[in-house]
Amino acid sequence: MDKYKIDSHKLNYHPERVGEWLKGGNIYPIYMEMSPIGACNHRCVFCGLDFMGYKNRKLELPMLRKLIPELGKLGLKSIMHGGEGEPLLHKGFPEIVELTVAGCIDAALTSNGVLLKKDLAETLIKHCKWVKISINAGTADTYSKIHRTKPADFDKVIANMSYAVELKKKHNYSCTLGMQVILLPENRNEIEILAKTAKNIGMDYLVVKPYSQHTQSETELYKDIKYGGDTVLADALKRHNSNGFSVVFRLNTMKKWDESARSYKRCLALPFWSYLDAGGNVWGCSVYLEDKRFLYGNVYENSFKEIWEGELRKNSMKMIKNSFDISNCRINCRMDEINRYLWELHNPNEHVNFI
Ligand code: SF4
Repeated sequence: MDKYKIDSHKLNYHPERVGEWLKGGNIYPIYMEMSPIGACNHRCVFCGLDFMGYKNRKLELPMLRKLIPELGKLGLKSIMHGGEGEPLLHKGFPEIVELTVAGCIDAALTSNGVLLKKDLAETLIKHCKWVKISINAGTADTYSKIHRTKPADFDKVIANMSYAVELKKKHNYSCTLGMQVILLPENRNEIEILAKTAKNIGMDYLVVKPYSQHTQSETELYKDIKYGGDTVLADALKRHNSNGFSVVFRLNTMKKWDESARSYKRCLALPFWSYLDAGGNVWGCSVYLEDKRFLYGNVYENSFKEIWEGELRKNSMKMIKNSFDISNCRINCRMDEINRYLWELHNPNEHVNFI
């Protein structure tokens, strides 16, 4: 039950933008990942962005008050706030979400949920399309080892999300409330416990996804992990699905991780998304943060339009087209399914007219 297509992609819902791209147009992105702040209150053992150093830098509100409306006018449709640090450490985060929605852009949040207290929840659950909590164990003890934090944080997250559910029901908000766990040897025996807890407190879904080694990550603890199509766990988790709750077990993604296989030869997805780091740098891909080949510019120096149409991006796109080797890319990167779709569109077989 993957109602939100978490284990695939949603680019087929944007035929106009895709059509423009197929005709060779310089399109603007549909989706952006924005890191409000570099700092994080946890140090998860698998963190793929450890190489960024959890810097205490943040996006300033006066800049965002100009940037976000501009992004909306240029056709950006969604911003996922998260990535490099813990977004809720940014004191101005509620305003960032309000600016996003006021700019006619869908807002979403990925967070560890520890700081999602009552006053914050009021604004965030009202405005976000979805909130996804990263919670990588079913018990406080294991959670504290994986997130490298106090066991009490686990109880705080559960209490915060219980309140978020209450709030959603009380005001009839449409915000989808989800949890996500990365399947690791340390938490495999607790995934069912977590599914039961998530269901009991009224979450909409729990995603179980595989680990994927970030190419620049300092930790390599799980780089050789294999999933072998863990259908035993997948079947056990199916029992917890109901009308109001589903477990999205990402078998498709696990299979791709195990096989390290790609069906495309070039990355075509970059025009459709972008990443803004907590220092204001605009990157072409979240896997190549800090790699200057993917740096398009900085929003403190130029408007987004100037950056997107600027020389740095043009050169980066040329490099991607002519010489970039995707075999070094992160397996199951955020754009993997989109690349598979675009590659097929770009290279149709001879029978496609026989619909
Ligand atoms: S990691 Fe993915 S999105 Fe990034 S350049 Fe490689 S294929 Fe493209």
